[in-house]
Amino acid sequence: MRTAILPGTFDPITNGHLDIARRAAALFDHLVVAVYAHPIKTLLFSTAERLELVNKAFEGWPNVSVESYDGLTVDFARSKGAKAIIRGLRVVGDFEFEFQMALMNRTLAPEIESVCLLTTKEYYFLSSSIVKEVAKLNGNINELVPAHVVTALRNKIEELGDEVIDRIKITTMRD
Ligand code: ADP
Repeated sequence: MRTAILPGTFDPITNGHLDIARRAAALFDHLVVAVYAHPIKTLLFSTAERLELVNKAFEGWPNVSVESYDGLTVDFARSKGAKAIIRGLRVVGDFEFEFQMALMNRTLAPEIESVCLLTTKEYYFLSSSIVKEVAKLNGNINELVPAHVVTALRNKIEELGDEVIDRIKITTMRD
């Protein structure tokens, strides 16, 4: 059985993630969507919340499972017997980062391939960060994320009030 993992922060999951997952799930027998528990960036949603949102997004997908993980992505991939790490490529800026990470992962685990899938044109601008910002400014995000994520974002923004600004700060160039 060919297994791949799709690692990410998913803060929160967007239709761009779902598009990459759908295409990866068609290429592999089993896809593990891997929610990275403690990334070095400010998060809006807790690990439990992100996991719940991701789980709900993949309900009914026959060959997709969802897990959270900590530590090196290649170690998680190995623990799942995965042959590949799937990443999505959007704007040109993604390439440099993904290339660097893929080479590092290959150094750490030569037996695991990094497979980058190109975004579809509808989603090339879409990131979790932009969704959070638009949601904060009361813009329409209905076409960008699943319905349950729209609700979760609205609730979180209301719950946090002004504090939300600190939680959606852009902390890396890429996001
Ligand atoms: P990370 O913090 O690891 O980058 P993200 O949740 O931001 O986690 O992204 C996870 C993966 O999904 C990354 O490979 C990213 O490039 C990809 N991705 C996110 N949004 C899109 C999109 N709109 N189109 C294609 N790939 C995407």
